[in-house]
Amino acid sequence: MIITDQQKRAVAYLLHEIRPDWPVASLVSLIDKHSDVPSLGALTVAATTKAMEPTCQTPAPIFHPGPHWPEAARRQLPKPPPCEDHIGQDGHTCRSCHADVKAGIRPPDKIGKHHTPESEEEEP
Ligand SMILES: [Zn+2]
Repeated sequence: MIITDQQKRAVAYLLHEIRPDWPVASLVSLIDKHSDVPSLGALTVAATTKAMEPTCQTPAPIFHPGPHWPEAARRQLPKPPPCEDHIGQDGHTCRSCHADVKAGIRPPDKIGKHHTPESEEEEP
């Protein structure tokens, strides 16, 4: 379903009450980019679950698939974009990218995005 502007604002204000560090305006624009959700209830459950996770710094992971979505809603989520570098992996959960980051050969902001490692010859 496509949620309405009023529903978007309602969820944004609710999240802002839970997480004062998440501004209403950016929540509204984030929800706007992902307005095709399984249901308003599923979005509210997923969003408030993420808002209550202290390790969740930004609201963006709300729209990643995961256990914060009610089980019945999970299969209705739009498929996440694939990793640009690793065939068959989802962009934001790509295991190969996360392994590269741990190994220090990929910056954390390049998970799921194309990254060309710098030539080893250029390193001191
Ligand atoms: Zn990858």
